[in-house]
Amino acid sequence: MNTQEVKDTLDTYVMHTYGRYDLVIDHGHGSKVYDKEGNEYIDCVAGIAVNSIGHTHEKVAKVLAEQAKKLIHVSNLYYTEEQAKYAEKIVKKSPHDKVFFANSGAEANEGAIKLARKYTGKGEIITTNGSFHGRTLATLTATGQDKVKKGFAPLPSGFKYIDYNNIKQAEEAITEDTAAILVEPIQGESGVRVPDDDYLPSLRKLCDEKNILLIFDEVQTGFGRTGKFFASELTNTVPDITTCAKAVAGGLPMGLVLANKEIADAFNPGDHASTFGGTALVCSVASAVLDIYDEENLVQKSQDNGKYFMEKLESLKENHDCINEVRGRGLMVGIDINYDCGDLVAKAQEKGVLINVTNGNVIRFVPPLLITREELDKVVEVIDEILP
Ligand code: PLP
Repeated sequence: MNTQEVKDTLDTYVMHTYGRYDLVIDHGHGSKVYDKEGNEYIDCVAGIAVNSIGHTHEKVAKVLAEQAKKLIHVSNLYYTEEQAKYAEKIVKKSPHDKVFFANSGAEANEGAIKLARKYTGKGEIITTNGSFHGRTLATLTATGQDKVKKGFAPLPSGFKYIDYNNIKQAEEAITEDTAAILVEPIQGESGVRVPDDDYLPSLRKLCDEKNILLIFDEVQTGFGRTGKFFASELTNTVPDITTCAKAVAGGLPMGLVLANKEIADAFNPGDHASTFGGTALVCSVASAVLDIYDEENLVQKSQDNGKYFMEKLESLKENHDCINEVRGRGLMVGIDINYDCGDLVAKAQEKGVLINVTNGNVIRFVPPLLITREELDKVVEVIDEILP
């Protein structure tokens, strides 16, 4: 198919739930992707924080091909060595004791909500305005943005919203019925919003005092994105439950619900399940992904190169009054612009850089963690050229 045929066919046969950018991506490697005409782009979208190990990593390709010849899927009615090895590896890397395998961020959050309700015997989940937790009915209800809920009533009950980064509102919102507070350590979709340093530790303290659970949605922030393996490490705050997805399996669908033993043990056989959760194929790739993080020092790279990148972006303020703020941690970076700047996406694309604008006015960069300084320099150069 040529470029136009791909677009026309997708528009005809796929439900129109996505506003797509005008680009057909044909292949990719490392931090770069290429269209059908062979044009090269530095990918600062990275599947929206999914491709942290870059595109088509050779190790992943090898493991994937080998595992596909051995065993792809069996039901969770059986044990597999691939799942055993990965479960041990990821749990030991986390501050938790047990994991449940899901297939997406929304599904991981659904699992966390169910677990919190089952463990506490209470129904109410407090979430924050501006948050994003997924598109299933429970997780879109958990999401603190009206636009994702419109048209889907009736919504499940049991959710309550407070302002992000406001500990007083959290204190006031907790009732006898509260099971948990669910929060992103840094809000992604609403424009890379970093809370004050004492916000998450204060939430931890509050949850302990009130005997409710603290759940961190690390679907976007997890796996080195913020310069620590888990963003919770940025403020040394250990939640009771952590959810992850995006970067977990290098682009294959995988979600994680990680919890402490006492809480995790509230789930009994039959309480929760997922047909595709933790297949041999996905677990073998996810194991390779963790090895790649270690071998290529990706978490440290995210921290160091993120700092380098943010300093360079910060310097653009001198020539561009439209920049309100450059913010983020590691390689999760946003430039807050003083107008709705969606048009910048096409302008950057024309110059060989893929970016994304979230919340209308925030340019978001979540590139592969192995992106080089040379590539980041080029990104800054392009942003400098396209900003008014
Ligand atoms: N939670 C957060 C913080 C997210 O950023 C996202 C997706 O952007 C989700 C949950 C939902 O993940 P998924 O699209 O895999 O269901």
